[in-house]
Amino acid sequence: MDTSRDSRGARLLTAPRGVLPYYLTLEFAAVLSPLLVPGRAVTDQDWRWFGVLLAAAVLQAELSVRVERMRRFFTSNPHVNMTSVWLFAGALLLPYSIACVLAVLIYAHLWLRIWQAVPRVRLYRTVCSAATVVLSIAAAQAVLMLPLGSLSYVASGATYMVVNCVLVVIGFRLHHPSRTFESLLGSWAENVLEATTLCLGGITAVLLTEHPALVALMLLPVVTLPRGELGRQLQVMSEHDHKTGVLTGGEWEKRADAELGRGDQPCGVLMIDADFFKRINDTYGHLAGDAVLRAIATTISREVRTFDLVGRFGGEEFVVLLPTASYDHAVRVAERIRQAVERLEVPHSDVVVRSISVSIGVAVHPDAGNTLDTVLAAADRAMYRAKNQGRNQVVRAQDARDPSRAWAATPPPGSAATA
Ligand code: GH3
Ligand code: MG
Ligand code: MG
Repeated sequence: MDTSRDSRGARLLTAPRGVLPYYLTLEFAAVLSPLLVPGRAVTDQDWRWFGVLLAAAVLQAELSVRVERMRRFFTSNPHVNMTSVWLFAGALLLPYSIACVLAVLIYAHLWLRIWQAVPRVRLYRTVCSAATVVLSIAAAQAVLMLPLGSLSYVASGATYMVVNCVLVVIGFRLHHPSRTFESLLGSWAENVLEATTLCLGGITAVLLTEHPALVALMLLPVVTLPRGELGRQLQVMSEHDHKTGVLTGGEWEKRADAELGRGDQPCGVLMIDADFFKRINDTYGHLAGDAVLRAIATTISREVRTFDLVGRFGGEEFVVLLPTASYDHAVRVAERIRQAVERLEVPHSDVVVRSISVSIGVAVHPDAGNTLDTVLAAADRAMYRAKNQGRNQVVRAQDARDPSRAWAATPPPGSAATA
């Protein structure tokens, strides 16, 4: 992991094409915007509100240093940020020029006190995040001017959230072309948290205008909310494979076991193994191999229903549980996955990996066995048969045990033959 200052900066220079121009455009627009649209003149009242919001943001950050460092370390969707409470309150109340100054100061403080110590966070991204917030404030204030009555506050908050999210997601997507927009958008819970902070921002604005001292009441929820979110993040992380985003083998097994335990419907199980994966590593390098693994996992997840369970069984092996699936259904899904993987083109650095394929074994509970282990073993045998028959194909366990199509059980290389 590169934690030195030099390599942090170098990351931007070696980032994929398009990232640097995108960041520079955002920053240029953010710097120019207060000059082009300064908004109304700043009054003494504005400066008082500014002071309260800045003090609250600094206090909140100081009270949450450890939690925010951990959240920022674990999250891959940085647009969800508790400071939106103060920034959106500023967007609602302050003239544009000092709302921008507020954003810059809050982000500078966050960088100095929290993010600087997090290896994954880079200064240029923080600068760009501050620029996206400034542009989000501009959009939120533009909506406030529309004749929408009291709905304009809700529309303004929604605009702030959407603009910020879209600008951050575009930057991240340019950095990580293999990540899907869905994964970059963040989970439902993260977006609800962001929406909650904007609601609190609206309430803060009302408190500031009516009873400024009561803004102190907002601090406790703003400090405690991310703790619950951190707990949820840690749970999600422990259940999901870090590299591919699908369930870990252990979590998949636990959930699949529970699903089979219901016993009221058949359940399909797919054992999916990438073909000649070692060659991909040997030809393009292990990082390209990782990108291919991620692309395969994403493809599998895309081809199944939301309640199907996708897990990483081992190195380049994935498992899928398809509740209520008959053999025909499970084979159809497996065939769809096989064909979608065949079409994959995975860009990595300056190469594009093509000709990727998987071999898939299909078994159905209870036909292939009464327990998860026996069904998995049947799917595994079918997968090995697919390998043996030339790879890049789907084999059902029924066929694998059919004596007329019997697979001459060649032991895998390196394994001892059993009697
Ligand atoms: P086969 O078609 O018979 O399955 O051939 P294969 O090369 O896919 O199978 P083999 O078992 O010989 O090699 C699997 C390779 O998968 C070797 C291992 O280095 C690679 N692998 C396992 N986990 C990872 C990972 O997380 N990332 C990368 N890049 N490679 C991995
Ligand atoms: Mg394998
Ligand atoms: Mg393999």
